[in-house]
Amino acid sequence: MDCIFCKIVAGEIPSNKVYEDELCFAFYDINPQAPVHVLVIPKTHIASADEVSPENSAIVAHIFEMIPKIAVKAGVTNGYRVITNCGEDACQSVKHLHFHILGGKPLSEQMA
Ligand code: 5GP
Ligand code: ZN
Repeated sequence: MDCIFCKIVAGEIPSNKVYEDELCFAFYDINPQAPVHVLVIPKTHIASADEVSPENSAIVAHIFEMIPKIAVKAGVTNGYRVITNCGEDACQSVKHLHFHILGGKPLSEQMA
C-alpha cells in the first residue's frame, strides 16, 4: 500500500520519533504549526476517523491513553490541543488516521 505513514512506521521513510509501542507511533510533524507539533498514529493502517470500528477502537483508546505521556515527552507543560482531520472539508491530506498534538504556546480560541 502506498501510504507514507505506513512507510514511516516501517522505517522506510525517516521520521523524528517521540514515542513508539506495539500499537502506536508518535513523531514530529514535518511542517509544524505550533512550537510543539506531534503526530500520533496507529501502527496498523486505519484510513481516518470514519474507519474506526468495534474491531480497531481499542487501538484508538490506547492512543488516547498515551497522548498525555507523549505530550509531556515532547515538552508540553501547559496544555495542548488534539485534532484529527477527517475527509475533504477538514483537509485531511494523509489517509492514515493521525492525531495532531499541538502545544508549546497559547493556541487560538478558534478551531476552524
Ligand atoms: P492532515 O492535513 O492530513 O491532517 O495532516 C497531515 C500532516 O502530516 C501535516 O501536518 C503534514 O505536515 C504531515 N506530514 C506529511 N508528510 C509527512 C512526512 O513525511 N513526515 C512528517 N513528519 N510529517 C508529514
Ligand atoms: Zn497507512
